Amino acid sequence: MTTQLLSTTGYDLERAAELIKKGGLVAIPTETVYGLGANGLDPEAVGKIFLAKGRPQDNPLILHIHDASQLYDFCREVPQTAVLLAERFWPGPLTMILPVRDTVPKTTTAGLDTVGVRCPDNAATREIIRLAGVPIAAPSANTSGKPSTTTAAHVLHDMEGKIDAVVDGGPCRVGVESTIVDLTGPVPRLLRPGGIGPEELERLLGALVIDRAVTGEIRADAVVRAPGMKYKHYAPEAEVLIVEGSSEAAARYIRSRFAPGDAVLCFTEELDLFAGLNPTAYGCALDPGSLSAGLFAALRALDNGTVQRIFARCPTGGGVSAAVRNRLQKSAAYRTIDAEQVKSEK
Ligand code: AMP
Ligand code: MG
Repeated sequence: MTTQLLSTTGYDLERAAELIKKGGLVAIPTETVYGLGANGLDPEAVGKIFLAKGRPQDNPLILHIHDASQLYDFCREVPQTAVLLAERFWPGPLTMILPVRDTVPKTTTAGLDTVGVRCPDNAATREIIRLAGVPIAAPSANTSGKPSTTTAAHVLHDMEGKIDAVVDGGPCRVGVESTIVDLTGPVPRLLRPGGIGPEELERLLGALVIDRAVTGEIRADAVVRAPGMKYKHYAPEAEVLIVEGSSEAAARYIRSRFAPGDAVLCFTEELDLFAGLNPTAYGCALDPGSLSAGLFAALRALDNGTVQRIFARCPTGGGVSAAVRNRLQKSAAYRTIDAEQVKSEK
């Protein structure tokens, strides 16, 4: 199959919507990452997403809607908290887990009795959903296990020949996947940190439980609420090792161990400190939004066949930094060193 490259102008949005209506696969731009979209109400079309990505069947998809009013079409119950969250954060990088109606096929929800729903902050994609007349089921548009895609070029790298089209909406503003909050229990539960920080949610909701999928490693056989969280994720070919501590301590630690095939993923402010150590900056430590926007592109750039090990610098703090930390920890399979605790081995 030839993958068409579409723009975000009117005629191309109609073509994208037609492809979705016909059961095709279209990669769509959103403010988080590119999504690999299909008609969320058509099990056959949704099945193709799993094939194109090599995605495990028990990993549910997020249903993308163009307006919050569509919540009632696909969710059995819409609690007041969901209405509040939608008013405050939609369109935006927040996915809500709610009880699913039987209008949504089991292939989309991976057989769960809940569904993840989101209204993305991208006018072109909302227009495609509106024109298609169906919600678009979409996971991130990357090969399963690899870093998510934040440009149309990334999508083509992973999906060319496997999907009908990609709509080029430019680089994604947020750059990491949506925050996921489960509203089906007695207290709202954060299942995945994202563009909306946990503090912002807590301020609005009053209480928020942080699921252990967010903070710790989950065994492959574990029963988890956000099934996707147990898989290897966001991982380049190289082994990633997070180096914590001050920039100076990290530089000392890395310099004493650096070998051919190693690289450093760092903050822009640290480029001078890591000179000669094959450094790639993914954003400024003082601007966490630049880190989330740059993380996946940097991990992909380091996936060039010559790098075997990446020493990565990771932000501390809340807001979107929590999401950056979560994705880096997963790409590092939680391998972390505190450079302050390691004696210099010159
Ligand atoms: P992706 O778009 O690739 O980041 O994948 C979507 C992720 O959303 C899945 O891996 C799950 O972790 C989460 N998700 C989607 N639907 C549900 C649901 N009904 N319950 C819990 N988590 C969900
Ligand atoms: Mg994904």
